[in-house]
Amino acid sequence: LKLTSKNLSQIASQQGDQKVQIPTYERNDVKEGIVHVGVGGFHRAHLAVYINQLLQNHDQRDWAICGVGLRSNDAAMRDVLSAQDQLYTVIERSAKGSAAKIVGSINSFLFAPDDREAVIAKMAHPDTHIVSLTITESGYYYNENTHQLQSEHADIQHDLANETSPISTFGFLYAALARRHEQGLKPFTVLSCDNMQKNGSITRNMLESFARLRNPDLAKWIAEEGAFPNAMVDRITPSTSPDDIKSLAENFGIDDAWPVVTEPFMQWVVEDKFCDGRPPFEKVGVQVVKDVHDVEQFEKYKLRLLNASHSAMAYPGQLAGFKYVHEVMEHPVYRKFVWQMMQEEVKPLLPDIPGVDIDKYCNTLMERFSNPTIMDQIPRVALNASGKIPQFIIPSIAEQIWVTGPFRRLCFVAGAWFRYINGVDDEGNSFEVDDPMREQLQALAKAGGNDPRDLLSIKMLFGDDLRGDKRFIDEVTTAMELIAKDGVMATLPKYVD
Ligand code: NAD
Repeated sequence: LKLTSKNLSQIASQQGDQKVQIPTYERNDVKEGIVHVGVGGFHRAHLAVYINQLLQNHDQRDWAICGVGLRSNDAAMRDVLSAQDQLYTVIERSAKGSAAKIVGSINSFLFAPDDREAVIAKMAHPDTHIVSLTITESGYYYNENTHQLQSEHADIQHDLANETSPISTFGFLYAALARRHEQGLKPFTVLSCDNMQKNGSITRNMLESFARLRNPDLAKWIAEEGAFPNAMVDRITPSTSPDDIKSLAENFGIDDAWPVVTEPFMQWVVEDKFCDGRPPFEKVGVQVVKDVHDVEQFEKYKLRLLNASHSAMAYPGQLAGFKYVHEVMEHPVYRKFVWQMMQEEVKPLLPDIPGVDIDKYCNTLMERFSNPTIMDQIPRVALNASGKIPQFIIPSIAEQIWVTGPFRRLCFVAGAWFRYINGVDDEGNSFEVDDPMREQLQALAKAGGNDPRDLLSIKMLFGDDLRGDKRFIDEVTTAMELIAKDGVMATLPKYVD
């Protein structure tokens, strides 16, 4: 049955062993309190699911979502959602089986390239209280070295010159906030749900920098009146495959052109800092915390353990020809490598969080990575590495050097990334390198061969801390040479005790 509002009750009452949850709240009687930029897999498996629960079980009708796509490839999402009355299916998969839930919290969708003014007007509307973001790390134009906005970036330059037809997230946020200020409204909260440590603070700093370049008075208003909660977000959400669409039709009788597949686990720790109201997130299991340090500690666990392990599987894994994360976990030596990297090189650097058992956290991660049913793709985990490695891997190396602790495995991951940049695996097969800095990276990787120093000279990614550090350079060089000579799988045992 095609997924539409009209067919919902029939979908729910279909005979079969598999039950489907559907939204039973009145979808026409809601206000769109949240405008979300970047309606990809993660948003649809995370924030939109929490909001769906609030609408379904807690009658929170002011908080439906208006999705926004800024990039040309978001046209596909616009078309799929509009043909399905903005409904889609979340398929939760674990070793125990699958569950399907139809989510109705996205109420409308605006595709910016069609009508940029409509997006600005929507964000500026008094009903909008939160603008949330999953725009990937590269959407923040954040220079890791200077911690400043990449103000020379062509998108930012474009938006500084064109207030009414922006292309970057900051251009839209600025234009909408300027309008709210003019109309005497409060600013909306800008809520980043991207994987970055201090995601709220980075969002605040980048937006304020952008605003200062246009109008310092408005920048001041945003700084004083705005809110940018920091948040740690977690739910592994692979890209949807054609098989997922087919199996949803076969097992649940739902014809959905773009369902989302995810794991049962979900977590969100968010700082309680909202300037224009918020939904009662606590009611649906979100950890809303008063102290920003609480978020930072959870973020650190997530980025340094989960995301760093993902990187440890992605770059060497791609070179070794693995297709899925769970396949890496099935390989005993590789599994041990990931475990030992977490336990010996990352765990000692992490703070104690009251009520969290770090070994249990690591064990749960190993279980989640091993889930064979969600088929998390190595290329997905690998993409946009220039936004990931400097956040997930490099800080642990730098800290280990400070405390003279072990960091060889982390350097192996960095070295594997440097080889990965060439786009050729250990068998000589080419693969696509999906990274906004690809051209620059590939030129430097080619010039440098097994010498990482050319790549490490990209200050924006690596700063100055490690660039001249001999111990670091030697470890990365060794890893690159070993991989070049013997390949990842023959090298890995040298990194496992
Ligand atoms: P996706 O590819 O499904 O969607 C990405 C969305 O971001 C698209 O709508 C795209 O148009 C938009 N986007 C990309 N670059 C942008 C830019 N420069 N400006 C504005 N919009 C931009 O990816 P996803 O799985 O939804 O992941 C998105 C982000 O969510 C990740 O980068 C990460 O920070 C966070 N996240 C993902 C997961 C996961 O498991 N997928 C888990 C935790 C956090």
